[in-house]
Amino acid sequence: MAPQNQPFATRIAAYGKAAVEEACRLILAGEPVAVPTETVYGLAADATNEEAVRRIYEAKGRPAFNPLIVHVRDLAQAEEIASFGDAARALALAWWPGPLTLVLPLKAGAAIAPVVTAGLATIALRCPAHPAMRALLEACGRPLAAPSANASGGISPTRADHVVKTLEGRIPLVVDGGETELGVESTIVAVDEDGGIRLLRPGPIDFAELAALASLAEGEGKSAIEAPGQLRSHYAPTKALRLDATAAEPDEWLIGFGAVAGDDSLSAKGDLREAAARLFHALHRAEAQAKACIAVAPVPEEGIGRAINDRLRRAASSRD
Ligand code: AMP
Ligand code: MG
Repeated sequence: MAPQNQPFATRIAAYGKAAVEEACRLILAGEPVAVPTETVYGLAADATNEEAVRRIYEAKGRPAFNPLIVHVRDLAQAEEIASFGDAARALALAWWPGPLTLVLPLKAGAAIAPVVTAGLATIALRCPAHPAMRALLEACGRPLAAPSANASGGISPTRADHVVKTLEGRIPLVVDGGETELGVESTIVAVDEDGGIRLLRPGPIDFAELAALASLAEGEGKSAIEAPGQLRSHYAPTKALRLDATAAEPDEWLIGFGAVAGDDSLSAKGDLREAAARLFHALHRAEAQAKACIAVAPVPEEGIGRAINDRLRRAASSRD
């Protein structure tokens, strides 16, 4: 018999019409379901249903003070939930659907379960591009709260088997859409009342591009990079991790990049997009090795490399 904290036999269903229908049925019944997005796999639940959203926190073991991103079908659905000024609308029109999350004032009376925002007056919204998540949003007709589909503190999942590694028995279904395309979580920006934006988490979209468009739309607002107020423990492998390594110590599994060849490589040709797409799988693989520690080659701090380094720095510092 399954132990009490493992109430489900987790099923993996290949992405397609039948899988989306099953996922939709479960979500409308208040269960969380893992679904691929273009960034990482998300654990989606009906954002209007308090009990359903609680099940996300339970399945992940996520602290309830850490708010969730809500995924929407389109800008019209987003505007029912949050207040959009000119800058926010311009950003959404330019990058949605895509890997951009906007933190905006929550509208009074919006049909969002309070546990989603952890009691904040703002809400994080994203319109994803992946056809599986889009089909699910369409089928459910509800906004879906969806953090990454891994146990809290674990490495984000970019494949269905990564999800199963930590959520097996804790959720009923994983929709398997293969490897995710981008591999790192969305860029998160807060849009202030004056139209200025603040970077809360680097991601696939460069902050400079967003800031340029926001100031074009609004004129006045000052955009700035803010020290991300995120939990350090968010991206935590179970092994010690050393950054900027050009050679491995005897007890280290080295993840290379470009000219630094290792036991594995993020991208032998030094391509940052490829490196981002492979990052979490490389960390999952490194965790599974006999070597006690992980080392990672230097990755340039430019474009999506900023997001890669952000995730690596968190992983390295999480054991302090
Ligand atoms: P994830 O766990 O990958 O879904 O990450 C979601 C991130 O969005 C978390 O780190 C939150 O801190 C951030 N977030 C969600 N809602 C808000 C909000 N209202 N204000 C600021 N950050 C938020
Ligand atoms: Mg996460």
